[in-house]
Amino acid sequence: MTLRELLEQHRGEELELYARTINPQFVRLLRTIGFDRRWARAEGAYLYDADGTRYLDLLGGFGMYNVGRNNPRIRAALIEALELETAGKVQLGVSPVTALLASALLERAPSRLRRVLFTSSGTEAVEAALKLGRAATGRSRVVSCEHGFHGLTLGSLSAAGDAAFRARFGPLLPGFSHVPFDDLDALEAALRGQDVAVFIVEPVQGHGPYFPSEGYLHGAQELCRRYGTLFCVDEVQTGFGRTGRMFALDHWGLEPDLLAVAKSLSGGYVPVGALLMSTAVYDSVFDSLEHSVSHGSTFAPNDLAMAAGLATLEELDAQRLPERAARMGELLLERTRPLVERYEIVKEVSGLGLIWAIEFQEPAGGSRSWRLLERMQTGLFAQLIVVPLFSDHKILTQVAGHDSNVIKILPPLVLSEEDVDWFVEALDATLARAQKLPRAMVRFALKAARANRPRRGLFAKTS
Ligand code: PMP
Repeated sequence: MTLRELLEQHRGEELELYARTINPQFVRLLRTIGFDRRWARAEGAYLYDADGTRYLDLLGGFGMYNVGRNNPRIRAALIEALELETAGKVQLGVSPVTALLASALLERAPSRLRRVLFTSSGTEAVEAALKLGRAATGRSRVVSCEHGFHGLTLGSLSAAGDAAFRARFGPLLPGFSHVPFDDLDALEAALRGQDVAVFIVEPVQGHGPYFPSEGYLHGAQELCRRYGTLFCVDEVQTGFGRTGRMFALDHWGLEPDLLAVAKSLSGGYVPVGALLMSTAVYDSVFDSLEHSVSHGSTFAPNDLAMAAGLATLEELDAQRLPERAARMGELLLERTRPLVERYEIVKEVSGLGLIWAIEFQEPAGGSRSWRLLERMQTGLFAQLIVVPLFSDHKILTQVAGHDSNVIKILPPLVLSEEDVDWFVEALDATLARAQKLPRAMVRFALKAARANRPRRGLFAKTS
């Protein structure tokens, strides 16, 4: 039976099948918040459900669709790679596609980075950074930032800055400690002992989001150099045009020793990740024939991911997507900043390129309903915006992180001005209604939160 026939045979059963075989709690969550759509297809920044209704996708698969969903250039490259019947993984051999993508990546990265190690995901790129960083320095400690997020495998999780991610999975790796983001004094205090292998940081923290002040990242890089610590920038979410530059580190001219990327590198089609490193790091780990395969994994790199990666980099250049992200991000900020004046419940609007966020607060003078919601679960008010944006306005957004009243978006960078209008008008209408905290809305939120007890962070997600 072909895949088309198989899908046809099971049309309409996807949620039930998923619940039965994979994750019933997740399906329950989707049903609770009314996100239980049956998705039929996607294109660019749009998703279409089984009824043909179009949705604006402002999550972009948590930032893996920078070039847009089902991008024709990437699809054509994948078909071509399949038709070429390349040798694929020989294991004791090399593929030219891998080195071509490595060259293309290094051409776009800071000059200090001269070698690439491919992985199949973001968390594996981070794991590689931690392992190689320890071997290269002969030190074991790792410092990361509070609120940082680097993936959910045990090494990356040990670096996670939010206790909510770490709870229940301990003991985690020894030697990890956390400092506040954007605080150079705290970082210096942590590095001064000259026993830290790696300091890992996201240039913009996804779980906030938190944006660095002007001199922070440069200062962090200098401190790392001073105390012999490797400076590792995690651009799994911010890479490939997201913040308006190819890499977020380009905003500050950073020269890290290690750079982790993933997500959008393959245009959202094939699992992929990469760790870019300096020759100094490479040379101290892969220092002999015996150590030539000190780290790796069976599938990484595979030719399909590499072919998709080459096409993705070409597409980012051809469509000038980083520039577009910068322009659309500016427009979005310009259009949404006035919401702070217009609505008491809007505390702040922030963004860099197409990472954009809106934070809510209790209205001045206090609100009983607000406090009731907050007592039930932090972030419940933000969920009161996310739900109608989806059900009434057909726009997919999310509550950002744990314990925050923030909505964050990571749309495909192909977003148009009309899409920005669609979102801004929908947000305005939703805020106007939610500001009054109508009874029906509060009742819905409390019911949903209660149904989920005792788990915390019902609506928070992991990306
Ligand atoms: N680092 C950052 C900054 C991320 O945002 C993520 C995923 N959201 C990861 C690492 C982990 O990547 P993956 O989900 O591909 O393992």
